[in-house]
Amino acid sequence: MRLHDTATGSLVQTAGSSPDSTAPDSTAKSAGPFTIYVCGVTPYDAAHLGHGFTFMTFDLIRRRVADLGRQVKLVRNVTDVDEPLYAKAAELGVHFLDLARSEERRMQSALGRLGLIPPEVEPRASEHMDDIVAMISSLLAAGAAYELDGDVYFDVSATPDYGRVSGYSHGLMTKFARMRGGDPDRAGKRQPLDFLLWRRIGDEDDPARWETPLGPGRPGWHIECSVMADRHLGTGIDVHGGGADLIFPHHECEQAQSTAAGRVPFVKCWVHVGPMLMGGEKMSKSLGNLVFVDRLLEDHSPAAIRLALMRYHYRSGGEWRPEFIEDGEELSRELRKAAAGMSREEAAARPAGPLLREIREALDDNLDAPRCVRLLESCLSRPNAGDTHAADVVRIADLLGIESALA
Ligand SMILES: [Zn+2]
Repeated sequence: MRLHDTATGSLVQTAGSSPDSTAPDSTAKSAGPFTIYVCGVTPYDAAHLGHGFTFMTFDLIRRRVADLGRQVKLVRNVTDVDEPLYAKAAELGVHFLDLARSEERRMQSALGRLGLIPPEVEPRASEHMDDIVAMISSLLAAGAAYELDGDVYFDVSATPDYGRVSGYSHGLMTKFARMRGGDPDRAGKRQPLDFLLWRRIGDEDDPARWETPLGPGRPGWHIECSVMADRHLGTGIDVHGGGADLIFPHHECEQAQSTAAGRVPFVKCWVHVGPMLMGGEKMSKSLGNLVFVDRLLEDHSPAAIRLALMRYHYRSGGEWRPEFIEDGEELSRELRKAAAGMSREEAAARPAGPLLREIREALDDNLDAPRCVRLLESCLSRPNAGDTHAADVVRIADLLGIESALA
């Protein structure tokens, strides 16, 4: 299986030991699980289609890797230590961790109903404070971080790779840092792009404040993911990703601090998912153009929603077209007919037919989900295709996470 790696700008072989896309992964037994770290959400609101599209992308990757015979360990963190969460909790008059727990459950339920295989681990930042403090302390000891009025900053000159994930110029990084929560203009920093690892919180009544050897305060967002990735997956993570808006600063900063902390190689392949758009704009809370997953699930089958999302290539995303869901419902009905009551057991016992082979090839070709949908549409119009075809359809439903279409 080959995927586009943001850091090198090229396709890299991930799972599967041979360029022959249908060969099983012969390294499966010795290599240990295939590791995936997906940056999860800050749980202060429901999952929208942009989340659904991003997480479904990693679900498709994990399903194909498992299909290649490799065990998968997928970690999707919960960013329950983050500024927008405190603001929303204060507005509602609740503790931020109570808000986080209830929104986390809502999110898990919506994503589960969308047919996502639950992550093997869903670590919460709030439960990794000792590890976070330990990594920041080791960066300070190594001279890769420094204190500024009680806060701690990462020194981007400590690693030659700052800029390697995004490939952005210094000027562009500075511009984005200013727009996306950074503080390039703060006086006293060694470099404008140095980013926050620890924020000192003087106010004893602030609920998001931990008493630690670094002083009272809370961590910056980027260090949380470096720590949770290290704790649960170690080094050499096969695939690490999330939405494309995380490339900079979030993943750039993760790469820099993990490398400086000696976690090398940190990541083998950086995978980023393009946005779902509404009216030409990225779906976002501030624009009020969100389509919520749980709302869609009230009227539509999970398979239809997934088939609709699969019409977009993961790297590009695109303008959301609700009519794709109706097409998905229709395709689901055709799939059910084509499966012709074939059981999973019977299907698994048969050799792969041409349709399954082509679907696997499409997934291995940088996760070409739109091609999978086209293949399904063109093949299902063939009448009386026989048992091999029916068995393929049953196995494809599992591979693409659209099992509900056959129910
Ligand atoms: Zn992250």
